[in-house]
Amino acid sequence: MEKILFIINPIAGKKTGKNINQDIIRYLDTDNFKPHFKYSEYAGHISEIAKQASVGEYKAIIAVGGDGTVNEIGRFLVHSNIPMGIIPIGSGNGLARHLKIPLSVKNAIKLINKMHTLQMDAIRINDMYSFCVAGIGFDSEVSRRFQKMKARGLFSYIIACLRCFNQSKNQDFIVRTKEKEYRLNGFMMCFANASQFGNNAYIAPGADVSDGIIDLILLKKPSYLQIPLLAFKTLTGTVENHSLYSRIKGKAFEINQENDFAHLDGEPIKVGTKFTVSIEEKTLHVIC
Ligand SMILES: [Mg+2]
Repeated sequence: MEKILFIINPIAGKKTGKNINQDIIRYLDTDNFKPHFKYSEYAGHISEIAKQASVGEYKAIIAVGGDGTVNEIGRFLVHSNIPMGIIPIGSGNGLARHLKIPLSVKNAIKLINKMHTLQMDAIRINDMYSFCVAGIGFDSEVSRRFQKMKARGLFSYIIACLRCFNQSKNQDFIVRTKEKEYRLNGFMMCFANASQFGNNAYIAPGADVSDGIIDLILLKKPSYLQIPLLAFKTLTGTVENHSLYSRIKGKAFEINQENDFAHLDGEPIKVGTKFTVSIEEKTLHVIC
């Protein structure tokens, strides 16, 4: 009998995590796996639990939450042989959606029973990790505002976007690769491992989490009139051909920005005005 640890974020998304242990016991293949449950009780607790568990004897560790929960657990499982599973109950579920992990709890657990794993890349930003999409500029400002809001979910996210939009403007970025230096001007810059932020908003259509490549996306500020088409293209996976959009593919970048913060998988964090982005290829085993 192999032990599986479920780390549950009870306040993720629509707060469905509280009683999820009953579903897990119902649908998990308990002939082969014995579930253990840990609930996060305060900010930073998930990381503490994951850190202790990452040196334990678990067959797998399951993130029960959103992309923030996935990030807090994934960072301790990178370079380990313990696979991470996801039961996506967050507000965006970007990585789970990208990996086509079912959004229904029942089917996500049935997928875990199969224990099929993929070796995915991790994007490293300074000494931190992003598994889905990280970014600077407008979307990091949105993540800061969103974090301060009481209500989560798509509606709150849209409100946060609208409130930040007026104050945000294009800024200068310098991007250095081994071969080249780019002087760019834009509204936001993303470092995509997965193709989407969550909620099927495809910022990097076609991005692959195991190709060893970071998709760097630059977006210039749209006018109010351009927003509907840009939003439509983002939600339909066709943003690539928009005139405000450009993409650079690479394995390592050095970035200069005017601000000193970023978001990693939606969580705001300080990275400094100069920071490094690199890819650690196929370093996280994920169940999908
Ligand atoms: Mg990639």
